Amino acid sequence: MEVIKQVSTIREKVQALRCDGKRIGFVPTMGALHEGHLQLLRASASENDVTICSIFVNPTQFNNPDDYKLYPRTIEQDIELLKTVGCDYLFAPVAEDVYQQQPLLQFSFGSLETVMEGAHRPGHFNGVAIVVSKLFHFVQPHRAYFGQKDLQQVTIVKQLVQGLSFDLEVVSYPTIREESGLAMSSRNKRLTDKQRQLAAGLYRALQLAKSHLTIKPVSTIKEEVSAYLNTLDQVELEYFEVADVNTLQPVDDLTGVQEVALCLAANVGPVRLIDNILVNL
Ligand code: AMP
Repeated sequence: MEVIKQVSTIREKVQALRCDGKRIGFVPTMGALHEGHLQLLRASASENDVTICSIFVNPTQFNNPDDYKLYPRTIEQDIELLKTVGCDYLFAPVAEDVYQQQPLLQFSFGSLETVMEGAHRPGHFNGVAIVVSKLFHFVQPHRAYFGQKDLQQVTIVKQLVQGLSFDLEVVSYPTIREESGLAMSSRNKRLTDKQRQLAAGLYRALQLAKSHLTIKPVSTIKEEVSAYLNTLDQVELEYFEVADVNTLQPVDDLTGVQEVALCLAANVGPVRLIDNILVNL
């Protein structure tokens, strides 16, 4: 596997690969890799001629400076993992090369970003859209791989690709979990053992909501999720939503609805985590 740090070098490499007729699969990440990332990389390696992973902790998508500063960075370990999953190139740029100037660009995704993560993390999806657009220009993939763990992000990236006519396919894969049900996340590395146990309660809350979805009103389910998470020390719920899987808008009445996403964000100790499950009704 080749490690490329410079934007100009990845551009040249990609141009040569495309001239050779290679199909490029791309997995953008912020590093501190885990099985959730590795699943996407294995899928890319099996579905494309060449796989490129990027590791870039993108400053413009963090609305909390501590979250950015404390985001786990484990590049040496990541390189070893990438070698085991058929990744051909790691693109790991520095911020100054990606952002030669502070972008003035402002994306708007309408109602897709006025809910959940968009509502609670102002500017987050603008930063995501800018960096994903840049990475797509640098890497020029035929396919780009994303996890359902970040459901709103995948929806917004699909809108970005469609809205700006990027010539690529967005592929998404299900959330990979620990045995406890806790969704894998790089931020889990910041949890103590005790907090990690408590964080598994987020998945239990989603399962509780799922089990009552067709027998209780949505408002009661919201109260139950909130009450359950309240019983867990160090866990503070930020939001829980029953959302339409396509529009991401809150659903209050399930009559006639076929599939919903149950989505939540919570702080566990100092670490903010998100999770969701899809439910067919
Ligand atoms: P990140 O490094 O957190 O920006 O994530 C990079 C990609 O991996 C994103 O498309 C995420 O949705 C995806 N991802 C992160 N965690 C998981 C997981 N537990 N299961 C599946 N995909 C994941």
